[in-house]
Amino acid sequence: MPSRKELILKIALDVPLRRCFDYLAEENLFKTPPRPGIRVKVPFGKSKLHTGIVLGVSQRSEIPVAKLKRIIEVIDQEPVFDPTLLQLLEWAGSYYQHPIGEVLFGALPPSLRRGEQIKSKSEYTWELTATGRQMDSGDLRRAPSQTQLLNMLQSRSAEQLQFELKNRQWRAPLQALLQKGIVQKCALVTAIGEPHSTIKNITLNNDQKQAVAAVCEHLGVAKRYLLYGVTGSGKTEVYIEIIKKVIAAGRQALVLVPEIGLTPQLIQRLRDNISTHVAVLHSALSAGERLQAWIEAGNGTAAIILGTRSAVWVPLQNPGVIIIDEEHDLSYKQQDSFRYSARDVAVMRAKLNAIPVILGSATPSMESIQNAQSGKFISLTLTSRTGTASHPSISIIDMRGKSMFGAFSGELVEAIAAELRDKQQVLLFLNQRGYSPLILCHACGWMLKCPRCDTRMIYHKHFNTYTCHRCNSQSRPVRACPECSAQELLPIGHGTERLAETLAELFPTARILRIDRDSTRRKGSMQKMLDQINAGDADILIGTQMLAKGHHFPKLTLVGIIDSDRGLFSTDFRVGERLAQLFIQVSGRAGRENLHGKVIIQTHYPRHPLILSMVNYDYHEFSKVILRERQETNLPPFSYLALLRAEDYHSTAVERFLTEAKNNLSSSNTNLEIFGPMPAIVEKQAGRFRYQLLIQSSDRYLMQRTLEPWCKFLENLKSAKNVRWSLDIDPQELV
Ligand code: ADP
Ligand code: ZN
Ligand code: ZN
Repeated sequence: MPSRKELILKIALDVPLRRCFDYLAEENLFKTPPRPGIRVKVPFGKSKLHTGIVLGVSQRSEIPVAKLKRIIEVIDQEPVFDPTLLQLLEWAGSYYQHPIGEVLFGALPPSLRRGEQIKSKSEYTWELTATGRQMDSGDLRRAPSQTQLLNMLQSRSAEQLQFELKNRQWRAPLQALLQKGIVQKCALVTAIGEPHSTIKNITLNNDQKQAVAAVCEHLGVAKRYLLYGVTGSGKTEVYIEIIKKVIAAGRQALVLVPEIGLTPQLIQRLRDNISTHVAVLHSALSAGERLQAWIEAGNGTAAIILGTRSAVWVPLQNPGVIIIDEEHDLSYKQQDSFRYSARDVAVMRAKLNAIPVILGSATPSMESIQNAQSGKFISLTLTSRTGTASHPSISIIDMRGKSMFGAFSGELVEAIAAELRDKQQVLLFLNQRGYSPLILCHACGWMLKCPRCDTRMIYHKHFNTYTCHRCNSQSRPVRACPECSAQELLPIGHGTERLAETLAELFPTARILRIDRDSTRRKGSMQKMLDQINAGDADILIGTQMLAKGHHFPKLTLVGIIDSDRGLFSTDFRVGERLAQLFIQVSGRAGRENLHGKVIIQTHYPRHPLILSMVNYDYHEFSKVILRERQETNLPPFSYLALLRAEDYHSTAVERFLTEAKNNLSSSNTNLEIFGPMPAIVEKQAGRFRYQLLIQSSDRYLMQRTLEPWCKFLENLKSAKNVRWSLDIDPQELV
């Protein structure tokens, strides 16, 4: 056999180790070695066929060639990640100090992680022919089900109908319409609906025009924009105009939204305005659907890709712009395993791709405001609500000493009654699901705590359980106090269930909808409730933060914030910012169209600075105060943080690990400030003790350089084997 110098492939495997692995390339001399980004099968550990991704080719290995194993098979013809995307993923692995294999595999649809071939299933559906589009439903009068089908096809897009049309009841009428040349079969990806005929003809106002022009002047340049405008100021219209221009230039737009719940609305608006294929990517899709969207983004079939956090990793054939709506939202940060921020990754991606990135929000994060002030981001501001909608008027109810109807003050009850008389909708916001957050023995003061956490159990009347919202432990309600056997256990405080109960007593004829994670567990139930609200079939909405974001309810005029006090005094420095964002988001639900909105805040701390700034509806003023505080205390965005978390059933094991970690870090570098080890805000959760080490630096680069070898050190530390640990770069929650 002819000999040649062996080629060594650097391969990433889906394992929690911060390194890649060396393998020998295939023996066949005439084959070019697989390029970076190509998947291969390799022997690894006990598994004979482990999937790996090639990161590079080299002539050298630290391991003697004789000891290296050979790859078994090359899976792909073309890399699953193009060079720029691969560069982004490698950057993310090293910036977030996360094992590269987990980063790469996490970015792939599930079936590709398992090493399956990339196969696009050609989905088909039906659409109207030209004849069909011009037909009148009267033309088919003698065939009622054909008429019904024609109506459906005329009023909804082919994509909306694809599942419904698979129902057996349509088989015969479809065949009939097919024979009459009224419908035709078409591949799903090419089923591009005509823009809706009902679209509003919108002329952008000056602010909007300026924003669009600013971005579109520099398509193809890596510029960063902060689009800052209150809810209803027309940010989405700005996105739409920019996307149109990007598509006209033959490029793709990647749009990130914080929640799946917000996708249907936005998809509809995009489709109403732009006649193109939109691929949607979020965690509720089936594996097949995800793969399909991933393929369509990568081969350019989809001009718009709309998705939640993980869509930031989707391959793009010809990227043109990245838009991150509600950029401040916490859901962009993955809170377990690979703790990346999709917003920050998107900004880096735009830089690598040399395209603009737009961060939009009514309540931007302090990081983005600071970036806009320092000139890193270009600031685009929409100053007023569009059309006739105006800012809601905000009033505060000082709850001190007031008599209450359940959780309500008399004033709020009156205000609700007035809206209901005018046939308007009311939203009551309470960020606490369940019936009551506390169970107390009236005789001895005993409180029901979670046996596994440092928290109280929440009473859920509907499910008849006590539940811990931290670890999900559940128990059946007890009748008597375990301490003193008294039978009087009181539910204290209010959750959404209890609010609904009180409201039903106060307003017996009102139609009340409770929207929280419990009431929307079943698939499709959220959408059903949203439809109900939009159709005007609900009078009072009770919602947690699920309802605070993005939704547009035209008939909603009053928002009541039931309990604004919780969280005003937390030890996490970001809580003020988050509360302000939440208040403004919720308030933004009121008065979206030409009806004037009102917001009523119930509080026991009417003079608290946060509450006062909310009265003025002035997030900008508020952000100045917060930024000044952060600067004085040298907190982000004026410094950078990393949080080493560790947990175990024994607190000594955790402390030992963190102490060793700290000693190593402080000996290697004196420029970092290290705080801890200290217990987390909730010290015990699911039976484990949680401690942390906080690392702070004013130099991001220095921090990154120091943390890299430190992480390798931790990985090999003996005391690390006994605990669960993770490193969180730019942590968003210090809990
Ligand atoms: P945001 O995304 O900032 O919440 P939207 O883009 O959803 O705001 O705009 C709120 C409402 O105002 C939408 O119904 C939108 O169609 C309408 N709108 C936006 N811009 C204009 C405009 N220039 N003229 C008239 N209506 C507009
Ligand atoms: Zn008792
Ligand atoms: Zn618990």
